[in-house]
Amino acid sequence: MPLQMKQNLPVILGGAFIIFAIWFFSGSEDELEKREPLRKSIAKLEAEPEFTIAPQPSMDLRKGAFSSEKPLFDQLVDAGLSPQIVQRLVTSLQEDVDFRRVREGVEWELTLFDEVPCQFTLNLSPIDIYDVFDLSVKPVVAKRNIAVSTEIRYYKGELQTSLFEAFSHMPKGIVLAVKVADVFAWDIDFYQDPRKGDQFEFMVETAFVEREGKKEFLEYRRILSGRYFGEKGKFNAFLFEDEKGKDAYYNAEGRSLVRDVLRSPLKLVRITSSFKGQRFHPVLKKKRAHNGVDYGAPKNTPVMAVADGVIEHAGWYGNAGKAVLIRHKGKMLTQYFHLNQIPKGIRKGKRIRQGRTIGYVGKTGLATGYHLHFGMKIRGKYVNPQRQKFQPGAPIPKNRMPDFIARMKEYEDMTVSFKEPIQMALLKPASP
Ligand SMILES: [Zn+2]
Repeated sequence: MPLQMKQNLPVILGGAFIIFAIWFFSGSEDELEKREPLRKSIAKLEAEPEFTIAPQPSMDLRKGAFSSEKPLFDQLVDAGLSPQIVQRLVTSLQEDVDFRRVREGVEWELTLFDEVPCQFTLNLSPIDIYDVFDLSVKPVVAKRNIAVSTEIRYYKGELQTSLFEAFSHMPKGIVLAVKVADVFAWDIDFYQDPRKGDQFEFMVETAFVEREGKKEFLEYRRILSGRYFGEKGKFNAFLFEDEKGKDAYYNAEGRSLVRDVLRSPLKLVRITSSFKGQRFHPVLKKKRAHNGVDYGAPKNTPVMAVADGVIEHAGWYGNAGKAVLIRHKGKMLTQYFHLNQIPKGIRKGKRIRQGRTIGYVGKTGLATGYHLHFGMKIRGKYVNPQRQKFQPGAPIPKNRMPDFIARMKEYEDMTVSFKEPIQMALLKPASP
């Protein structure tokens, strides 16, 4: 380029720009519209200020989870914290967190800026999240304020193969199945009574937490009302406070569902995979000349005292293997045979409450497979516990009946407001 031209370059360019600008900012509206994108991009260019790139602080997020293989201390040292900082961090959290009891899999996050540790977060549970700031100076702990909302859900289901199967598509379905079964534990033996086609419905308080603008399932709270219509009979449950203000369940006549004797000596627990082949009748229905009911159940299923009483025997008992015998009021005696283990506190002469675990299913003594032999004697004679009619629960006092009736009406209005219960069979499989 000739020197002359080089010197004039700004002038030439400037002139060109002016000509371009005249062209650009004139013309019909139509043309202007067409040029709009171009104009915008120029405006953008003009708006963008010149800057020099400042060195960016590097942010680093490290994550981990509690594990029995590597203590948290070592994990955090590996993540870049000095042992002193880890010590300070753990000490700062000790008031809120019992580290010995933190479950495996609980997640933590560590944020570092330019290799300097800034923030540690412990996700103890969806509602217990702790942030620790100023790690390298003096750690400050803050618990996050998590909003929990509750909604009432109304479900309906029908048994096809088992109670657990009916709940299997729901989040924490096993927990919910046990919750529902617990309400009816004095009326229904969920190991023996359910039949295909039995129907049930219930309303349950369901808690959610907000996370990143989305509602996330947290847990089930109280069952408000429930119904079980099966071969065994029709059963209703309504939540109402007892005289002491404690939540309790009553039937439509206002009688407490709690009775002196539980329907089943087996705690309803998740049936393990080895038990899958068993469908409705986990009972070894052998007509042996023995007095009692046999419950086929997985090894170590907890066995409960069906009623308050005093232990008459706990230990080896001939062909019955490890056994527990309990004496109850009303001249009733219950027997629990073939146990695998008996807890330490279960000893002769000890007074125990209904529902207390008195042993675990085994096959000790004369038993071919894991099962509980459950026997019941009244006034010295064997009776069939399944056909036994036990005392109905206590009624609500007359002066509180109007309140109870009003409460039942409230529940009914609620179910009507839902129009249709959620059909459990139509629920999509829950993600694990
Ligand atoms: Zn037996």
